[in-house]
Amino acid sequence: MTSVAPLPSEHLTERQKRLVELGRQFLYPNYRQPELVFTRGLGSVLWDDAGQRYLDFYAGIAVSALGHAHPRLVRALSEQAGRLIHVSNYYFNEPNVRLAAELCRLTGMDRAFFCNSGTEAIEASLKLARRHFHSKGETARLRVIAFKNSFHGRTLGALAATGQDKYRDGFGELPNVTHVSYGDARAVHAALAPDVAAIVVEPVQGEGGVLPAPPGFLKELRQLTNQHGSLLIADEIQTGVGRTGTFLSMEQQGVKADIVALAKGLGGGVPIGAMVCRAALEGALPPGSHGSTFGGNPLASAAALAVLEALTADGILARVKPLGERLGAGLSRLAERHSRLVETARGTGLLQALVLKAEVDARAVLGAFQQAGLLVTIAGGQALRFSPPLVVTEHEIDEALQIADRVLSSYS
Ligand SMILES: *Cc1c(COP(=O)(O)O)cnc(C)c1O
Repeated sequence: MTSVAPLPSEHLTERQKRLVELGRQFLYPNYRQPELVFTRGLGSVLWDDAGQRYLDFYAGIAVSALGHAHPRLVRALSEQAGRLIHVSNYYFNEPNVRLAAELCRLTGMDRAFFCNSGTEAIEASLKLARRHFHSKGETARLRVIAFKNSFHGRTLGALAATGQDKYRDGFGELPNVTHVSYGDARAVHAALAPDVAAIVVEPVQGEGGVLPAPPGFLKELRQLTNQHGSLLIADEIQTGVGRTGTFLSMEQQGVKADIVALAKGLGGGVPIGAMVCRAALEGALPPGSHGSTFGGNPLASAAALAVLEALTADGILARVKPLGERLGAGLSRLAERHSRLVETARGTGLLQALVLKAEVDARAVLGAFQQAGLLVTIAGGQALRFSPPLVVTEHEIDEALQIADRVLSSYS
């Protein structure tokens, strides 16, 4: 898969430079892109405009579940684009109703609402929880319990749930959410009161630094919400769609939430988000109370269906656990070998991290990895997050570990 000849590079490098200049001039400068323009990909490999090869171990922030140019996804998209791209939610469309059925089957839920991003899936989940109690006459149940160091998205509602100041600073008051320490069931218990509609939790704090929930914690949240009559919202935007080895990460703890938010890997790179919920909540958002113009459009739905088919019918999901163990074991070996630089390795499935010591410049290490042909991202300040496509091969995992080892050795 990786034996594609490099492109002739000279003038393409010039072209890349011009594109970077154009981007620097006209794009809103809220990101921090390096001087790279990716022009094509195949599986877990990306090529920049100069023909340089990179191992893609970030997958567009845990999005490209099937890697790049996966034949199933390409076929589904081109066939659907030639047939029907958009009709709005005024009418049913075939890929979308099939997707809803398949997603409910895979999550054990009963109803699916579609939107275009993770943030929107959280927004829908929060609105559903509030509206559910409103429709039962409990109009004062508006508060949500969320966790410190969490990430739930950037619209004002999702941002209110997000428990990190770096995302919230400067945006004013973000009300109705109480943040407690992740893993602290006693603090959750103390924060529960009659005005709490829901608890929203990530099974693994992704942006927070790839921190899996402590054993038993999610079960305790389930028990607390049951006792208290409030709802449990699982933010599986990063951990869902097979990323941690099961379709939903919470399955591994034997916990079923009331509402699950999905996005990232769901469309394999095509923007789509979903909120799935139990039948008991189906009356809370009647026609007119919530919606999305693009949500559930045939093109994005066809992409998501192709992803779900590939995960199940092609056996990709079944490979995630062993591949994750290989990656995790390799990162643990690196943590031992380079203990001067690395604090620890942690993660689950194909969501893993190498956590650098506080005094190490994580951004510099990331840059050195990139120079050496390995792409990862930083999460939670010091964690180098490895979230390769779910189609990654054992050979590619070994190659990524070798590159990381070489770069870290050059630092020691
Ligand atoms: C990425 C992410 C979001 C936000 O998703 P967007 O598609 O960027 O809006 C929310 N929650 C979690 C856990 C995420 O990882």
